Amino acid sequence: MGKLLTTVKVTGDVRSGIMDYARDKYPNEMILLLRGRLDGGVAYVESLVIPPFAAGSRTRSLFNQWALPPDPTLIGTVHSHPSGIARPSTADLLYSYGAVIMILGFPADLKAFDRNGKYLEVVIEG
Ligand SMILES: [Zn+2]
Repeated sequence: MGKLLTTVKVTGDVRSGIMDYARDKYPNEMILLLRGRLDGGVAYVESLVIPPFAAGSRTRSLFNQWALPPDPTLIGTVHSHPSGIARPSTADLLYSYGAVIMILGFPADLKAFDRNGKYLEVVIEG
């Protein structure tokens, strides 16, 4: 069993990429895949991937998980909440993909949670 996830580290570029993409899709939700690695309780997010068959409405963002090839470098997702409230919904937790659920409370409140909805610390570096 790996160490319990406590922290998500993202680069400044990844953070601005998330905010730019959310602004493009506003007032709809957007969803992106997080590429990186899990190491010693820390998730390192190194880049963003546009998921296959993504669709965003004002209240839901979806993609086809089964269209993805198995890829251990995809460690979670980030999606936006146009409402500005960066908390996972029940559906967000039920249909999560990967270890990390990041939510951008539009326009700039970036939060992270594990699959149980537990709050993870977000650290911006680089
Ligand atoms: Zn959500």
